[in-house]
Amino acid sequence: MKSAIYPGSFDPITLGHIDIIERASRIFDNITIAVIQNKSKTPFFQITERIDQITSIFKDNPKIKVEGFNGLLADYANTKKVYTIIRGLRALTDFEYEFQMALINRRLNTNIDTIFLMTDEKYSYLSSSAVREIAKHRGNIRDFVTTNVADAVEKKIMELKET
Ligand code: ADP
Repeated sequence: MKSAIYPGSFDPITLGHIDIIERASRIFDNITIAVIQNKSKTPFFQITERIDQITSIFKDNPKIKVEGFNGLLADYANTKKVYTIIRGLRALTDFEYEFQMALINRRLNTNIDTIFLMTDEKYSYLSSSAVREIAKHRGNIRDFVTTNVADAVEKKIMELKET
């Protein structure tokens, strides 16, 4: 069985992430989407909200599991005994950061290999931060995220405006 971990903030998950997951599920038998808890001090969505959104998107795909994690990816890989990491690349600008992370992770855990999958060109400009920004200014995000995520983002924006 070929297994892999796809780590990320997914704040929120976009159609670009989903495209990478669908590509990866043609290569791997099992994929754990590992939602990072501790990266940003103030995430837009709580980790439980992100996990619920992603779980609902992949509820009919038995290959996909969704988990939260804290701490180092190198340690998480050890606890899972899965050493293949999937990351997506959108543009050359992603490369430097991803290259550094891949080398650091391999330095921390020599078993780790990172596999890069190229985005579909139609999602090459898409990021979670762009989705949050568009929604904040009441733009239409429904071409960029699933309906459940669009509803949740719009609800969260309303709540944040009320506070
Ligand atoms: P992180 O905070 O770890 O970068 P993200 O949720 O922003 O988490 O991204 C997780 C992974 O998905 C990264 O490898 C990122 O490059 C990739 N990714 C993000 N958006 C897209 C997209 N539109 N197309 C392909 N890959 C993407």
